[in-house]
Amino acid sequence: MTAEVRLKPGREKSVLRRHPWLFAGAVAKVAGTPEAGDTVRVLDHEGCFLAYGAWSPESQLRLRLWSWDEGQAVDAGFFRDRIARAWQLRQMLGIQETTGAWRLCHAEADGLPGVTVDCYNDFAVVQLSSAGADAHRAMVVEALLQLRSWRGIYERSDLAVLAQEGLPERTGILAGEMPPENLEIAEEGRRFLVDIRHGHKTGFYCDQRVNRSLVQRFARGKRVLNLFSYTGGFGVAAALGGAAEVVNVDSSRPALAASERNFALNGIAAGGFTHIEADCFSYLRRCRGEKQSYDLIVLDPPKLVDSQQALTRGARAYKDAALQSFHLLAPGGMLFTFSCSGWMKRELFAKVMADAALDAKCDAVAVMELDQAPDHPVPCAFPEGRYLKGLLLVKR
Ligand code: SAH
Repeated sequence: MTAEVRLKPGREKSVLRRHPWLFAGAVAKVAGTPEAGDTVRVLDHEGCFLAYGAWSPESQLRLRLWSWDEGQAVDAGFFRDRIARAWQLRQMLGIQETTGAWRLCHAEADGLPGVTVDCYNDFAVVQLSSAGADAHRAMVVEALLQLRSWRGIYERSDLAVLAQEGLPERTGILAGEMPPENLEIAEEGRRFLVDIRHGHKTGFYCDQRVNRSLVQRFARGKRVLNLFSYTGGFGVAAALGGAAEVVNVDSSRPALAASERNFALNGIAAGGFTHIEADCFSYLRRCRGEKQSYDLIVLDPPKLVDSQQALTRGARAYKDAALQSFHLLAPGGMLFTFSCSGWMKRELFAKVMADAALDAKCDAVAVMELDQAPDHPVPCAFPEGRYLKGLLLVKR
């Protein structure tokens, strides 16, 4: 029998607003003995049905909701429908026509909490990050196989958050072939080698696609500094956009080596770009000491805030990097500044950037708000889904 979870009075409100999460503190009592990942019926304090959710006994995030429809079984057909719906949305947006690297399923945004699927040409990469997603692995794979044929489906569930769910990390082939070490993809005319097995996330930052294209559009003739350059996504875009010079800085040697390969793959003439292995924060200070100057700077650090407690410290780091970048920008220079941390809200990020400009004694205007690409949608009821935010600032 399906276990039933009754909520405390008042805790049904977010569920009725279609928010997909419930924390441990919302649960009043449990009837039955659900196992991790089991589908349970979620009831309000009077016993009225609210939703079906996945039970995560080890996590503070105790329930992730699958469906608000009492007649909906959370079975193979459910996963097929949700994955098909996710596919249709991307098709409607024309994503598959412009890039070989894109997100097919963005977890909560596609009605499948904990389930992320990225596509790289004919390979699908699955990342399962919750007990509910983990328990339905076979159904996710089956749904993907129903959709189209794949050369391979590979699992990259090697996330730190899995520990909070009491789940082990899992990587490996789920179907078909092993992806090659370097799979070549084309993104709006840019070419990249993606290492599905070892790269960040599922191999590539698909969420920055639109912003890469923007950098490409504005780069002509500019001296570009690409900070936290990883495999050269923004740097390649800038070079293809006609940048006069591109300096890529990252602390990871393998990432820089991959970036070198990507510049070569795009036929970008040696001499127009450099790769520097350094800590970006100290590198920025060094550049300032040397009175270097740039026309376009991309500042896309890793997640500097991963909890509420880390917010103040993280905000300081974002500010420091932006402040130093302002010093290096020539008048009229552009700063593409990002935070991929969900804890850093857009308003706070804008304030941090304002503080950085103020301290750098720099008059800056925001000319564009930047966002995650449309294959990473945000449900109206789940604003937390908007994790990547950025600003295009111009120094006057
Ligand atoms: N902008 C990239 C993604 C950046 S990921 C893209 O669009 O593809 C973050 C990168 O920052 C990683 O490559 C990591 O190696 C690097 N990194 C993390 N901390 C760093 C530091 N202190 N200095 C330099 N690079 C750092």
